[in-house]
Amino acid sequence: MASVPGTGEGTGEGTGDGTGEGTRAVRAGLPEPRKHEPTLPGPVFAAHYHLPGEPTGPYTYGRDENPTWTLLERAIGELEAPGADAAETVVFASGMAAISSVLFSQLAAGDAVVLPADGYQALPLVAEQLTAYGIEVRTAPTGGDAQLSALDGAKLLWLETPSNPGLDVCDVRRLVAAAHEAGALVAVDNTLATPLGQRPLALGADFSVASDTKGLTGHGDVLLGHVTTADAALAAGVRRWRKIVGAIPGPMEAWLAHRSLATLHLRVDRQCANALALAEALAERDDVTGLRYPGLPGDPSHRVAAAQMRRFGSVVSFVLADRERAERFLDALRLVDDATSFGGVRSTAERRGRWGGDAVPAGFVRFSVGAEDPDDLVADVLRALDAAAGPH
Ligand SMILES: *Cc1c(COP(=O)(O)O)cnc(C)c1O
Repeated sequence: MASVPGTGEGTGEGTGDGTGEGTRAVRAGLPEPRKHEPTLPGPVFAAHYHLPGEPTGPYTYGRDENPTWTLLERAIGELEAPGADAAETVVFASGMAAISSVLFSQLAAGDAVVLPADGYQALPLVAEQLTAYGIEVRTAPTGGDAQLSALDGAKLLWLETPSNPGLDVCDVRRLVAAAHEAGALVAVDNTLATPLGQRPLALGADFSVASDTKGLTGHGDVLLGHVTTADAALAAGVRRWRKIVGAIPGPMEAWLAHRSLATLHLRVDRQCANALALAEALAERDDVTGLRYPGLPGDPSHRVAAAQMRRFGSVVSFVLADRERAERFLDALRLVDDATSFGGVRSTAERRGRWGGDAVPAGFVRFSVGAEDPDDLVADVLRALDAAAGPH
């Protein structure tokens, strides 16, 4: 386990305030205990609040603030930026709402932004909209820190590391140093890693942004997103965007997300260990090519990933001979659902090329590793690979 920092004992490492990550996750954002009150107060359903006299906050109207969001924002902030009391978190109705809030609140006509060429599927749609608003969009791949070459005169650098679905990794500290030197802000899409895998603000980024639909909530039943930043002015811009667009999470979703955080540490430890076990088993197969998992010591991303990540995520990707072979494999799996998305406790996999849009081979499989018993999972995958290869 020496090559997987932070997954074994000593989970207090690097947490800064003397508590371990598991301890922090189970208590994150909870209010002070009060007699006869629940540990985690239930969702507050309110379009408006009693507000006699001067309309002062914190709670005036339901699109601006909600006490259930407040607790969740505090909780995520404690994981994204432990000990940094000035960091602010703003939660959104989805990951795309969070991403859009940063891009559209920070960029104006005439600005340039550098996006990853191999990032989340919806980024090209966003790029089209940014271009329509007179913003110059430059793209470069995540691997090899190629976005460095596009920074001149840019206002914002957008990183996604590890990238989805290719699992390339860039050196966040190096890109942040170059971007800040060039006068650009840096946002990191931290969806795949979760704050227990990687803390972008500690690596120097100005924004940590995520789709919490994935590993952070981890049950495949909630859409949610968040932005964390330690800069009050940047946070105000993001908050203003949420108010304008109204991309707000429902109180029930926010409460479910907060409830899910209590098991985040358990889930990611189990899922990352399972992902490594699966990747190691796949590495032995000669019907599998293009295997990627940043936690595998031989992976092209491993060295950079190990220098900035504490856990390597729950996604493994690989390529089977062709579309038909990949489809037979997915059909033959019994413990793994054929579904998109990732980060949930139940394993899912899909042939990514079915969507179009990602530059991946027809037999490319994105595998999201769940919390099953590793032996069961690996056995199911090996059996399905054999079935897909056999006579048909
Ligand atoms: C899923 C995903 C998003 C979008 O999140 P939604 O919650 O579906 O809006 C953004 N970035 C990455 C890396 C993702 O995987």
